Amino acid sequence: MFQKLAIVGLGLIGSSIAHAARRGGCAQAICGFDASDDVRARARRIGFADVITADLAACVKDADLVILCTPVGAYKEVAAAAAPYLAPGAILSDVGSVKQAAIRDILPSVPAGVHFVPAHPIAGTEYSGPEAGFASLFDGRWIIVTPLPGGDDNAAARLKAFWQGLGASVDAMDARHHDLVLAMTSHLPHLIAYNIVGTARDLEDVREGEVIKYSASGFRDSTRIAASDPTMWRDIFLNNKDAVLEVLGRFNEDLAVLQRAVRNGDGQFLFDFFTRTRAIRKAIIEQGQDTAAPNFGRDKAQ
Ligand code: NAP
Repeated sequence: MFQKLAIVGLGLIGSSIAHAARRGGCAQAICGFDASDDVRARARRIGFADVITADLAACVKDADLVILCTPVGAYKEVAAAAAPYLAPGAILSDVGSVKQAAIRDILPSVPAGVHFVPAHPIAGTEYSGPEAGFASLFDGRWIIVTPLPGGDDNAAARLKAFWQGLGASVDAMDARHHDLVLAMTSHLPHLIAYNIVGTARDLEDVREGEVIKYSASGFRDSTRIAASDPTMWRDIFLNNKDAVLEVLGRFNEDLAVLQRAVRNGDGQFLFDFFTRTRAIRKAIIEQGQDTAAPNFGRDKAQ
């Protein structure tokens, strides 16, 4: 579908796009760039792109689709460095977990004649780096595109078709709404997981060895989320501050209500509350966004 796909940043998401684009025959040639010598060497060994280069200009030159897959905090610098070499008519996109900040940092560098279509795959794991990528990461997952007002419809449609070729479904919404929705469904849960694990680590009367040895599934699930890449998550909280603080405010109010119910021994309230939340999990499984298998379908040995 595309002649040359250029991927800037070869970690989990960048390498998964390359694997999935190959599988789906979505690009004639794939070129990858990463700032790190080590990441480029590892990416070459895996072999998910035709060319891996240390030259950003050569990577994006002649590409009809360029996707920025670095942490959000690097977008401004990377977009400015790539901009002079982007081909007229090319589509420039990104995968950033925060959309308003991505647009703020990338758009000023986009040359006339290049179509910028921001996007965010709602797919990932707690692993990072080029070895973490795999072709089926986007299968059945949602990609949210946040097209710019007055942007090129044809470019947005081509990007949508590209992601569908990678196995994903595509939805569109405006960037502000995206950031609020994701603050709730992704950023807040990560903040809470980081906090749960941090509190357990610092609890004075419980030794760290006991936290690990007697970890129950609820804590173990939190540790999985809290093992996510520190750079990526630092950048998300720095760049989606307002929406995160808004949902965190709501969360704290609701937590205070639960705290009161626990203190008062209000079993009926707790039972009704937990019954309502259970329905959300059921709906996620029914919509194919997770598996009903125990332990999230994960092999115990993993
Ligand atoms: P990752 O595995 O850490 O990969 C990021 C890669 O970008 C690393 O190889 C990193 O190299 C490289 N990089 C950093 N600064 C760079 C620069 N200035 N120029 C070129 N390369 C640079 O992270 P990821 O999970 O793929 O996340 C990438 C993007 O996808 C982020 O914007 C994130 O918000 C978004 N995203 C992530 C997920 C997820 O679950 N992980 C899901 C959806 C969207 P070094 O390691 O040497 O710094």
